[in-house]
Amino acid sequence: MPADMKGPLRPTLYRYKLGGFEVMNVLDSFAQRDGLGAVHGGGAQPGEVEALAKANNIPPDRFEHPFVPVLVNTGKQLILFDTGNGTLARDVEALKGRVPDGHLVERMAQAGYKPEDVDVVAITHCHPDHIGANFTGGKPTFANARYVIAAAEFDYWKKGENISDARKPTKMQFDRLMAPLAEKCTFIKPGDEVVPGIRAVDCSGHSAGLTGYHLESEGKNLLLFADSLLHYVCGVQNPEWTIGFDDDQQKAVANRKKILKMLAAERMMAVGFHMPFPSLGWIHETPMGYRWVAHSYQMNL
Ligand SMILES: [Zn+2]
Repeated sequence: MPADMKGPLRPTLYRYKLGGFEVMNVLDSFAQRDGLGAVHGGGAQPGEVEALAKANNIPPDRFEHPFVPVLVNTGKQLILFDTGNGTLARDVEALKGRVPDGHLVERMAQAGYKPEDVDVVAITHCHPDHIGANFTGGKPTFANARYVIAAAEFDYWKKGENISDARKPTKMQFDRLMAPLAEKCTFIKPGDEVVPGIRAVDCSGHSAGLTGYHLESEGKNLLLFADSLLHYVCGVQNPEWTIGFDDDQQKAVANRKKILKMLAAERMMAVGFHMPFPSLGWIHETPMGYRWVAHSYQMNL
């Protein structure tokens, strides 16, 4: 008898050391979508996205969009960065078939953590794929956690002024999944310390208060750049291309360029919520421009 086909099997957890911290990237979920150029290549010349895709050996149209929260154990506190898609696809009629089910909590369990172990949930921004598991069955999923979020981000969605039609559903999810947590929130601004060794970094553009986080322990550094970069080829190699998901597209371009320049100059390891899993790598500047170089074994040594 020939062996059964077992189907695809993909890694979903990746844990590594950063000085005295332990960091774990979790593949919450992924979506596969049509329209590489339509989504990630705003302003590209005809044929440019296809040529870029060919040069990088990825399909010219269809692409994968992963969702990767990060869990950091500082030795004193357990910090979760973003909560993924959660039960959005089941709870919100309009999102059925448009977002995948989140698996953060079950995958954290596989790695030895319960939701109530989380001390702090640090939110990068309030687009639904980043706050989708804040509640489970109407109750806070991370029951013992306080939340940390940029005041600029929270206030933007709370006020709800000047929100584009395309982002009206995002405002609805903010009202359901983030606003009720206000009394558990610590509101921060860029440069503020979340806990010792973790600091907020201004990445605004993709959203009004998009916040990255700089992690430092025992001289080792890691930048969690969230949605500053949304595709490991398009946004990295052509940071000026605009992206429909960016709420302020020109500001997002400026932020992408700033983050790319800094990461390349510092040769700093980085983790990106939408980078291919395990979403860890660094930015290399070449005569042709920037490249995302996936992690090999640097963080394992
Ligand atoms: Zn996102």
